[in-house]
Amino acid sequence: MTAPLPARRIGILGGTFDPVHIGHLRSALEVAELMRLDELRLLPNARPPHRDTPQVTPQDRLAMVRHAVAGTTQLSVDARELARDKPSYTIDTLESLRAELAADDQLFLLLGWDAFCGLPGWHRWEELLQHCHILVLQRPDADVEPPFELRNLLAARSASDPTAMPGPAGHISFVWQTPLAVSATQIRQLLASGKSVRFLVPDAVLAYIEAHDLYRAST
Ligand code: ATP
Repeated sequence: MTAPLPARRIGILGGTFDPVHIGHLRSALEVAELMRLDELRLLPNARPPHRDTPQVTPQDRLAMVRHAVAGTTQLSVDARELARDKPSYTIDTLESLRAELAADDQLFLLLGWDAFCGLPGWHRWEELLQHCHILVLQRPDADVEPPFELRNLLAARSASDPTAMPGPAGHISFVWQTPLAVSATQIRQLLASGKSVRFLVPDAVLAYIEAHDLYRAST
């Protein structure tokens, strides 16, 4: 009889990644190391077609994330939300991920504080913790109260040590991180005005942007 495989620790970080930048990547790598994850998957979100950046397709966003993580063993890309033709609910993504994992594998959903506070508006939000732990990425200087609907949940499910959340799912913990002051909005604006984004994105992403002439102001 073969010995059972040890439980894996898998994190997921969703985003539009339009484009992926060093803020996303540093944050992801730091969490992967702190949490001793086997894998942290960057998961590009589908957007309604009218909200896609002109000239940049979902396939371009995906290709840039793939280039960005190439060679970084802890980081990978999960394209399942782009394989569908409409935006996915997180609960559906988690169910789909869970169906591929062993029952005792640990799944960590990474959320910024703002996204976490918006949780009560999410489809079937009360079921999320059946499938994953939630890791809230919080800024060290933040001093904010959670919305009323989340207080009971936090009281019942909070774990003080994010690295020691037990079991495959069900707990909430916080990681304090100082984000790099870079955003995809800033990168799109720089490119649209003909400026360089070197050092804000990995060189391979910069090469892709240049080769495909992305984010330029249309003339
Ligand atoms: P935009 O400027 O287009 O709104 P963005 O740079 O915020 O984009 P998203 O793709 O929306 O990027 O972000 C995906 C995830 O990465 C979110 O959870 C977001 O909070 C986080 N994130 C964005 N920028 C940073 C950063 N500089 N450092 C750490 N995390 C970041």
